Parts: sequence; structure tokens; C-alpha cells
Amino acid sequence: MSAPLPAGLRAITLDLDDTLWPIAPVIEQAEAALHAWLARHAPAVAERFDTEALRLLRDDVARDHPDWAHDFTRIRHVSIGIALQRCGHDPLMADAAFAAFFEARNMLQPYPGVPEALARLAARWPLLALTNGNADLSRQPFGRHFRGTVSAREFGIGKPDVRIFQEAMRRLGVAPHELLHVGDDWLLDVQGARAAGCHTAWIRHPHAQPPAQGTAGTCVVGSLVELADRLLAG
Ligand SMILES: [Mg+2]
Repeated sequence: MSAPLPAGLRAITLDLDDTLWPIAPVIEQAEAALHAWLARHAPAVAERFDTEALRLLRDDVARDHPDWAHDFTRIRHVSIGIALQRCGHDPLMADAAFAAFFEARNMLQPYPGVPEALARLAARWPLLALTNGNADLSRQPFGRHFRGTVSAREFGIGKPDVRIFQEAMRRLGVAPHELLHVGDDWLLDVQGARAAGCHTAWIRHPHAQPPAQGTAGTCVVGSLVELADRLLAG
């Protein structure tokens, strides 16, 4: 760990995707579920748009609507509607198609030991999820360890903007120096939380390159389990 653990800690915010579970396999299974739904209910769409084509369409929508950057649900939903419409279907079918995607998007496989680590941390500090993604913690058994979620989608602004960290602190009733934010993304999580004046812990995955400016001032750990061990040993 490259920084001492904060004293006087009163709450912890946690990123979700790639912090509590790996996101790539989840999105892959959700895109497969979406395509399977289309093959069943709108076969012409499934035939014209394979998973990659649907992904490109989603990217087009994201590019055309930079103001939706905080709302992956809307981008995905609208892109499905466009695919349906292009094949002569009612774009309102996107509701059911997205539901199939979203159900699979929430079949999450946490990293080893994460539910237990969350339980240990939650016994000591209030935990709040802070995410730019659209995972639904209420669908997860370990979601009960969280006081709630501040999502970019609902708040309207995503990380690394300091305002979403300030919203989390408002909800928790803590000052910046009393909050530790934990996440895997150096820019979104660590730089954002630091700009808001919070303590930070970086979950560094093996493939992640350390930032050019170095990691001084941030706790660097390999996993949430390691962080929980260190925080609770102190
Ligand atoms: Mg993340």
C-alpha cells in the first residue's frame, strides 16, 4: 500500500463494475441474451444485426448524444429501438428486449471473497455504491450491505465530476476527509474522488498501468479483500 490508511474514516463509497465483479463477461452474456431475445421475437432484427452490429449501433447513438454519456441504459434502449424500427418493428418492443439484456446484465459473479469483504466493511462503516454503470444492487444478495447507490444515471452527472462525490457525501452526512472512495479506474475513481477532497483506494488489476504521475497519496491494493484486511487490521 502506497499511502497510510485514513484516520477518522466515517464512510466508504465503492465503484461497482470491475471493482466488485469483472464487467466484460457480464456485458458479453447480456449482449448474447439480447440477441437471443431478438432471434425469438424479432428474427429479422437478429438476422440483420449480430452482436457486433448492435454494439456499433449503440456506439453511434452514444456519439450522436454526448449528453447521454452518464446514462448507458438510455443509450442501449434507444439503440435497440432503432434496430427494431429499421426492420419494420414497433420500437416500443425495445422495452422487453432491454429487459432481457438487463436481466443478464445483473447476473453478476463477484470476485472471490467480495461478498464477505463487503459484510466485514459494512459492519464497521456505512457503504454507498457510486457508479457510472447501470447494475442494480437490489438484485444482488450482497446488495444488502449497501445503504444505497448514487448512480450517474439518476444523478445526471457521472464520475469523475466532483459533484457526484459531493452528492454521495451529502447522502452519507460526511465531510470529504471522512470518506474513502474505492475503485478500479484511476481517472474516474481516484482522480475524481481526490478532486473532491476524499481519501482514495485504487483496486489495481494486474493489467492496469500505474499512472505517469505515480500513486502517492492513494492506497493501492490488489482486491477489495486486501483492502478490507488492511482497513480492519488498523
Ligand atoms: Mg469500475
